[in-house]
Amino acid sequence: MLKNSKGICMKKLSLICLSLVLIMTVSVMTAQAKERKGFDMKKIEVFQNGSIPSVKGPAEWFTGAVRVDSVVPNGHESNISLGLVTFEPGSRTAWHTHSKGQLVLIMSGVGLVQQEGGEIIEVHPGDAVWFPANVKHWHGASKDVAMTHYSIINLNDNNQPDWLEHVSDKEYNAK
Ligand code: MN
Repeated sequence: MLKNSKGICMKKLSLICLSLVLIMTVSVMTAQAKERKGFDMKKIEVFQNGSIPSVKGPAEWFTGAVRVDSVVPNGHESNISLGLVTFEPGSRTAWHTHSKGQLVLIMSGVGLVQQEGGEIIEVHPGDAVWFPANVKHWHGASKDVAMTHYSIINLNDNNQPDWLEHVSDKEYNAK
């Protein structure tokens, strides 16, 4: 009889142990599932056209009428500045640099770009221009035709523009 009750005890113990192992396994699996779900919780974002007010290009940084339409809101986690810049004929940026560079993609019209000491280059829709870090340059419309370009700036590593003197009429008309 004693032996028998010992045997029942052992059976109960092993049942408890098995239950514990099962509970632990299930809780680990649940935690993993929660983790996966947390990853999936991130949602894609649509930046609706027209959701950010247009901004006039300030006279300290531009000559003529320039409008900036940001696409990605300030401070967004992408850390990318993306904006459509519209230059009326004859308008252009001042001379400036970007501490980590800038990419522009010409969308419409006829554009002009120049780096210090270089020729003025005419650019057209579909052309992309890379301005390397700290290269002094300007970009703008041609004399008679407006130009729009997307400006794409990776804001990582504190990529800042440094605004310098305006592009004089003499410099602009050199082409
Ligand atoms: Mn630039």
